[in-house]
Amino acid sequence: MEELNHAMVEDSGSIPGPRSRELFLSKERYTCDEDYPLISVDFEPNCCSMARKHFEGCIQHYIRRNDPDMKRLDGKTTNGGRYDIAAYLDLNRWPSYQDYVHACKKKHKGSALRHANKAAREGFHANIFSWPMHIPDVVEINHSKEIRCGRPMKEGYLRSVEEMGGYPEKKTFYQNPSCRLHHVVPWGVFKVEKGYKQGKIQTDEKLLAYIKFLRLGEMVLYTLILGHGDYLKYGIMYFLHFTIMRWLYLTKEQKGYLTNGIRYIMYAQYFSGNQGLRQWKHKTLFEPARLIVYD
Ligand SMILES: [Zn+2]
Repeated sequence: MEELNHAMVEDSGSIPGPRSRELFLSKERYTCDEDYPLISVDFEPNCCSMARKHFEGCIQHYIRRNDPDMKRLDGKTTNGGRYDIAAYLDLNRWPSYQDYVHACKKKHKGSALRHANKAAREGFHANIFSWPMHIPDVVEINHSKEIRCGRPMKEGYLRSVEEMGGYPEKKTFYQNPSCRLHHVVPWGVFKVEKGYKQGKIQTDEKLLAYIKFLRLGEMVLYTLILGHGDYLKYGIMYFLHFTIMRWLYLTKEQKGYLTNGIRYIMYAQYFSGNQGLRQWKHKTLFEPARLIVYD
């Protein structure tokens, strides 16, 4: 069964540093394998307050990161320098969504697509959604498995409905953010269920998985990403990823408000997580790279 771990970009204060910082790779600490491509990403950090906040948070979270669990799983020493290699997709690599799908079919005999199709056959659908309206479902997902990727869930995921913001009081819909370059889009997989409710609000659908998709300039990060333990067997995480990819390519041509100018997707570190998670990244064609950002 496929399982996904999570990466969380946390808010943080400003941190001192040089003008150019290597995300996910600190040269002072790691002697890195120079074979991994070095990719310069424009986060457009001076655009708005949201940009600055997430830019700093992102750097702080990843650049200083030295996760002891990861070290153990990799069996590498700190000097192995493998933990700060990002997993990324470059949308310019495939001209269209069909080309991307075609390339995925060549990995592991196309098992990512087969898994995604299970969710489609179950009648699930994926959409952008209003986070506050599905907080009870988010909490259920977060609590649906005690162990993920061989590790207990982090505290942040074990919060109650009240701690996450409470039950919805009214129907809400996702609103386009004020900055098209810096924002969060919650994407979810849903199961239609007539009469289904969140608190007193009738939604007629149940959230099964989510990805909080953080856009920073030309890059998108899969920050919070999690599926309900009872439904992972239907390939919901693959289904969600492929739906997002299709949306990105479709709206690329149409120059969509949210997606125009997105070139990269990043999903935490390439070598992080257990074997299942690494396979997931491999099957969906994430590649390792050292990312550089300029501020
Ligand atoms: Zn902005």
